[in-house]
Amino acid sequence: MTASPLPVEPFDLVIFGGTGDLAVRKLLPALYHRYVDGQIPETSRVIGIAREGLDDEGYRAHARKALQENGGDKSKVDDFLKLVHYRSLDARKDEGWDDFAALIGGQPDHVRVFYLSTSPDLFVDICNRLGAYELNKGKARVVLEKPIGRDLKSANQINDAVGRVFDESQTFRIDHYLGKETVQNLLALRFGNILFEPLWNAEHIDHVQITVAETLGVGQRAGYYDHAGALRDMVQNHILQLLCMVAMEPPSSLSPDAVRDEKLKVLRSLKPIDESNSAQLTVRGQYRAGAAEGQSVPGYLDELKDHKSHTETFVAVKAEIANWRWAGVPFYLRTGKRLPERVSEIVVVFKPVPHSIFDPSAGVLAQNRLVLRLQPDENIKLWVTIKHPGPGGLRLRHVSLDMSFAEAFGVQQPDAYERLILDVVRGNPTLFMRRDEVEAAWHWADPILGAWADSGEAPRPYTSGTWGPSAAVALIERDGRTWNEDSE
Ligand code: NAP
Repeated sequence: MTASPLPVEPFDLVIFGGTGDLAVRKLLPALYHRYVDGQIPETSRVIGIAREGLDDEGYRAHARKALQENGGDKSKVDDFLKLVHYRSLDARKDEGWDDFAALIGGQPDHVRVFYLSTSPDLFVDICNRLGAYELNKGKARVVLEKPIGRDLKSANQINDAVGRVFDESQTFRIDHYLGKETVQNLLALRFGNILFEPLWNAEHIDHVQITVAETLGVGQRAGYYDHAGALRDMVQNHILQLLCMVAMEPPSSLSPDAVRDEKLKVLRSLKPIDESNSAQLTVRGQYRAGAAEGQSVPGYLDELKDHKSHTETFVAVKAEIANWRWAGVPFYLRTGKRLPERVSEIVVVFKPVPHSIFDPSAGVLAQNRLVLRLQPDENIKLWVTIKHPGPGGLRLRHVSLDMSFAEAFGVQQPDAYERLILDVVRGNPTLFMRRDEVEAAWHWADPILGAWADSGEAPRPYTSGTWGPSAAVALIERDGRTWNEDSE
């Protein structure tokens, strides 16, 4: 039997960008699921904000459609929607803010969460107005969606401006990868067992791979994406955060700063990649026309309608962490659009046994691998060598032990946003990025972007539906290793 989750205290959650894709597809469903599980008190309120001239009922109709399409039960959706309100506001204009401030100010004892699910260029305006109306006081918190800037300088500008209104302890920079069950499970596996930690170092780990692959292209988001690219969109935030969870030293506790201090040390230990070595350690790609899920699809430049763009839709990086634990262990990172499969995974590949006692006819002695799958389904598998059962002699087989146990416990995997939104209400920032982490990540990423820009070279083309440019395969194969290909 599973224990019922504990309710949080009553809150007002304001979603700036309440009609946007993220709010409708992720945030409202996450809140609905936590409501159905009894974690959200009935006196809480969810207030959507956007410029569109809707009233409460208009917004609820919008939300009802999305929630029911998402499998929500009609009567429970209707109950949840009693908590949902809407205000039409332009974040850049004064009109409507008095009314909004009165609405929020009416519940001074509530936790107030301001979720900025808008383009980052509105963050400063929104925070300044929240400050002017003193809505930043008491139990107020602000949630910042990625991207936080496009380089260290612009990230600092945003963080400085937000920091003038909200303390660091009130600021929650969300990276939804950290809210995934598998990432929590990585902490439990590493620090809740004696088995792994003694092996978790350069002596026993050969290398680590982190892949975030998407089958989709940029589609309607080409305009936004062209200013970002794969390194800014995926590597600087999500992939580096996953790398930190794999590589950090055991924190002294799970307190927010203990965990984030250890992650910061990893980010600061990343070996610099700049114009002197980026050609050896990074591969940039851009997709051309090809096929995705059996359909022919256009190339990036055709979608963008600009044939000069050098923005990368694929990147592979060989990263290294310069400290005692990880010296000499490569972390191969790759992400891309229009790849053959949608998959996000961390693969920890252990070293081979030092000496084989088996006859070659017994089969290949494969290396142990721990595969943490974050998408499309979350699971953890440990690959081990066993003897093939039966009397047919000693034949070796490589099999995977399923270590995720969600089915065994009869638990449905919650979406990462469900956990993270309630952590914000509880005021627990453990799974959110501290300002110095964001800065350290940009400090590593900026010279790579600079080296690419200075080279003047275009990204390497790859056909949609393939695993990126052949140079990305060469990046790992010239070290005598291969990208993980088990799709189990
Ligand atoms: P979106 O669909 O374009 O939605 C933007 C929202 O902001 C809309 O509700 C829009 O409504 C509102 N808005 C725009 N200008 C405004 C203004 N001046 N005042 C008040 N509201 C305004 O964007 P999204 O995809 O939801 O993304 C939101 C943010 O989350 C972005 O920073 C994005 O990078 C980030 N993010 C998104 C996803 C995702 O899966 N979508 C994932 C990770 C991060 P009106 O036009 O009616 O004002």
